[in-house]
Amino acid sequence: MKAWVLHGVGDIRPEEVPVPQAAEREVLVAVKAAGICGSDIPRIYGTGAHVHPLVPGHEFSGVVEAVGAGADSKWTGKRVGIFPLIPCGECAPCRRRRYELCRQYDYLGSRRDGGFAEYVRVPEWNLVELPDRVSFAEAAMLEPMAVAVHAMRRLMPDKDAAVVVYGLGTIGLLLVLFLMDAGIRRILAVGNKDFQKQMFLQTGLDGRFYYDGRDSDVDGWVREHTDGAGADAVFECVGRNETFARAVGLAAPEGKVCLVGNPLTDMTLGRDIYWKILRNQLFITGTWNSSYLHDSGDDWHYVLDRLSAGSVPDGEGMVKRPGRIAPEMLVTHRLPLDELDYGLHVMRDKTEDYVKIMAVGR
Ligand SMILES: [Zn+2]
Ligand SMILES: [Zn+2]
Repeated sequence: MKAWVLHGVGDIRPEEVPVPQAAEREVLVAVKAAGICGSDIPRIYGTGAHVHPLVPGHEFSGVVEAVGAGADSKWTGKRVGIFPLIPCGECAPCRRRRYELCRQYDYLGSRRDGGFAEYVRVPEWNLVELPDRVSFAEAAMLEPMAVAVHAMRRLMPDKDAAVVVYGLGTIGLLLVLFLMDAGIRRILAVGNKDFQKQMFLQTGLDGRFYYDGRDSDVDGWVREHTDGAGADAVFECVGRNETFARAVGLAAPEGKVCLVGNPLTDMTLGRDIYWKILRNQLFITGTWNSSYLHDSGDDWHYVLDRLSAGSVPDGEGMVKRPGRIAPEMLVTHRLPLDELDYGLHVMRDKTEDYVKIMAVGR
C-alpha cells in the first residue's frame, strides 16, 4: 500500500509498504479521508514524532476492511470515524473514564502509525460508527470538532452570554459553528487574516461581529458590543502572550477564559494581567483533547448528534443560518493521498489561504 512515512525531522517520504495486519481486538481500516492537523506540521518539520519511522495522521475516517482476532465481526464493511487516543486503561484518570487525561497513552499518528496511508490498524475500542448523513470528509474532522466542543463545554456559556472566540484557525472556526449551533446569540470573533473574515462570514454571522485583531482596539470593540461589560466567556485559540493578555482583558468581572491554543513560546504574565485575574475574579481553565466514553454523554457523540440533526435552534438574534452544522465549509483543499506533501507544504510555508486540508480516498 501507499503510505507517507516520517523517518526523522523534515524527512517524510511516500513509500510502498506492506498492508498492516489487524492484531488482537483491532480492525483494519481502509482510509477514505485524512485531514492534516496544525500539530502535524511541527511534528513533521519541527520536533519529530515520538517514534520513527511513523505514518502520521490522526484525523481520519474510512471503512473497516478486516477484523482481527477477538474483534466483533459486525464491524466488517462499516463506515467509521476514529478516536485517535489509545488510553492505558490503568492510571487514575482512565479508571474514572477521563481518557483524555491518561498519563500513558498511545496515539494513532503520533506514537503509532496513523491515517496518511491507504490502510491503518485501529483498536476496535476506538471506532465510532458513522450515521449515514455524515460524510467521510466530515468524519475526518470529528477529532477537531470534538476538541472544539470539549472547549465549549468546559465553559458552558448560556444562550445570552457574550462570547468571544479569539483566533480563527480551524478550532476557532469550529467553535464559532458549535456555539451558533448551541444557540448562543452573542458571538464575537477576532481573526487576523482577510481569509478568516471570509470564512467567518460564510458561517452566516454578520460582519459586525468580526474584528481584525491587527487593529489595536479589540478591547473597545468588545466593550461596545457588550454594553461596556466585557465578555462572559473568552476562548483563547491562539496561544501567544499578547493574545492571552488580551483575552484576560476582554473578560467581564467573574468572566471565564478558556485556554485552547497551543503555546508557541514561553508564556509570561505581566503584573497588570495578573491583577486583572485577581480583581475581576476570573475563572481561567485549560482544555485538552476531547472526551470519549463510548456513550452518548461524550464530546464525540455530541458532535455526531449535531451532525445528524436536522436543524439548529432558531436564531432570533444573531444566528441566522438554518440547517445542520456544516463543517465541510472549512475544507479548503482536497488532495489525492499521493499529493499530501502539497498540503503539508502549504501549511508549513503558508503559501496559500487554508483552513482544513485533507487527503481524500479513491
Ligand atoms: Zn489534531
Ligand atoms: Zn491511562
